[in-house]
Amino acid sequence: MELNTRHPNPTHPTTALIRLDNLRHNLAVIRERIEPGTGVCAAVKADGYGHGAVPVARELVSAGVGALAVASASEGLELRRAGIVVPIHLLGLTVPEEFSVAVGAGLQPYVADEEYAKRIAAAGRDAGIAGGVSVHLKVDTGMRRIGCPPEDAPRIARKIAGIPGLNLAGVCTHFPVADEVRSDGFTGRQVSRFLDAVERIRKAGVDPGTVHAANSAAILNRCAPGLDMVRPGIALYGYPPAQPSKHARFGEERLAPVMELRTRIVFMKRIRAGEGVSYGLIWLAPRDTVIATLPVGYGDGYFRCLSSDGQAHRARVLIRGKNYPVVGRICMDQTLVDLGPEPEPRLYDPVVLFGPDPAGPDAWDLAAAADTIPYEITCAVSRRVPRLYTGGESAAAD
Ligand SMILES: *Cc1c(COP(=O)(O)O)cnc(C)c1O
Repeated sequence: MELNTRHPNPTHPTTALIRLDNLRHNLAVIRERIEPGTGVCAAVKADGYGHGAVPVARELVSAGVGALAVASASEGLELRRAGIVVPIHLLGLTVPEEFSVAVGAGLQPYVADEEYAKRIAAAGRDAGIAGGVSVHLKVDTGMRRIGCPPEDAPRIARKIAGIPGLNLAGVCTHFPVADEVRSDGFTGRQVSRFLDAVERIRKAGVDPGTVHAANSAAILNRCAPGLDMVRPGIALYGYPPAQPSKHARFGEERLAPVMELRTRIVFMKRIRAGEGVSYGLIWLAPRDTVIATLPVGYGDGYFRCLSSDGQAHRARVLIRGKNYPVVGRICMDQTLVDLGPEPEPRLYDPVVLFGPDPAGPDAWDLAAAADTIPYEITCAVSRRVPRLYTGGESAAAD
């Protein structure tokens, strides 16, 4: 096991264990779902969905992933500084002031209009980028976030191909509802619009480069073709994007959560029936019981909205193979758990807040309780929680 050197204190009791063997496993599950030869561009934005972009990227590249995707130029720069050389897609648009940083880091920006493409090309020429800047034309087939109208794609593609210092490396689109089973065939219609645009780009005499669209939802639901390349994110980290049954999580999909958020018991005390605990005293002990204090809270990304709703608990933790409820309000730095009157757990026992063990909560359980999605649960784990890497086959994890 290796310590993330970004954190100065190896004895910190709350840690996020990152199972790189599970990351590889999930990549294999994704590969089973796509045609052999389909490329994989792994989304490692938002610090690899909170798992640590650099170690995750290294592991994926060593497992044969051919491209990575980030949301910002800074994220791309971080990967380049760590010595990662594979193509890095810049999924999001940015401001002109940042174009030189993006092209200087050798990122492949997504472009949605001619003006943006021209400015990127100019930044590339100023920076003297050998061979020009590779860009991907983003086609908006229904997400209505970024992208050009499908009917404009051939014209913009021809322009991009004609601008000195610019290469059309790919054409892509994105799906807003591939995680839903919809009777209206929305994703299917997006696919036809997209393939039609690609066909018209070809007819206009322009090579579209790598054609790609599918996110995790499209791959897992098989509701869109893999085309030349798929762009999975959340599935690599072990979660299906739509709320599944526990069986779908661990049975059918066979995805394995990569992150385990763990802490330790630092204090235990007996309280009497009727006593309240934590801010607001919103939870009152229904009987004499033992309360454990955990050194973790919303300052670590363990959401305050997972506090008990009065007497009703929303979140559980796993200690010695058993689940115990979080009671009272989650504080910035501390959380309380009801161990019951005759507890088995002991002071300093390890506690799992969420992770791959099917006996305990996973990020979907917390997401459901917090009215969000697992993406936000793993992304929210804050900088003060050291990431520890295990099971990796790539050289140094960090
Ligand atoms: C984040 C992102 C992905 C990956 O999405 P998941 O739902 O995590 O698989 C793919 N494409 C684009 C454009 C994205 O922004």
